[in-house]
Amino acid sequence: MPELPEVEVLVRHLNPLVRGLTIHDVLVRRAKVIAPVSARTFSRAVRGARFAGVSRRGKYLVFDLRAARAAGPLQLLGHLGMTGRMYLLPAKAPLPKHAAVVLGLGRTKFVFEDTRYFGRLTLDCSGMLRLGPEPLGPQFSVEGFLRALQRSRQPIKVKLLDQSLVAGIGNIYASEALFRARLAPTLPARELTRLQVARLRLAIRNVLREAIKCGATVPLNYAGSGQRDGLFYFGRAPGAPDFYEERLRVYDRAGRPCIRCGTPIRRQVQAARSTYYCPHCQNSR
Ligand SMILES: [Zn+2]
Repeated sequence: MPELPEVEVLVRHLNPLVRGLTIHDVLVRRAKVIAPVSARTFSRAVRGARFAGVSRRGKYLVFDLRAARAAGPLQLLGHLGMTGRMYLLPAKAPLPKHAAVVLGLGRTKFVFEDTRYFGRLTLDCSGMLRLGPEPLGPQFSVEGFLRALQRSRQPIKVKLLDQSLVAGIGNIYASEALFRARLAPTLPARELTRLQVARLRLAIRNVLREAIKCGATVPLNYAGSGQRDGLFYFGRAPGAPDFYEERLRVYDRAGRPCIRCGTPIRRQVQAARSTYYCPHCQNSR
């Protein structure tokens, strides 16, 4: 599932491609993804609008639009959910089976494809209001992080998935950050010392920065035609090195030796999600 780094990589890719383009037609094939407004209201609002830019907040893509008629700016909030992909295709290319929303942009079209329909592309921006600070921004301080953790009895791994604590971390980078900070995933959030919180904050920032630098960790499954056509291709080119394996130190490595100490990595289920950790290096209680 895409987390902050994957969304950031996608935003940096999409922004220069769509900026300045006008939405000429709107096709909504899955009304659920644009809820709560109807396809009719959605189409009316965005048809004729121009993309002013794409940015990121947490795991959301924020599309800034300049509406054709309405005064003032308009925002579209995108979320990839589990399997969502957003990319451009030539206007004449056939639509993929699971295209949920398609925005005609003249010679190209913006496609939001989602096989499982947990993603969103909506005018409702209220989801952003509940988000905590950006982990790579100046608001994410040791003091603020410490105060928020002290209010929680949840295990630290589970708490890190709470988007109101810090925005954009999901299951993969929560495990990775705890490994780097050498903290047991089961440690109750409020029992972390100030020093441990400072170490975890730094680990989070480093793990996210490195992931952004390397590009997407989790392939977003867009196979497309399998050919690079100058438009969006979000998959691994055939024969490309498997960065996914190399870059993750504990995630999805159960039974394999810890890169630091050689102890087999363990998998444990916490709040119905898999946690991966080294029982030797992360023995912080
Ligand atoms: Zn280890």
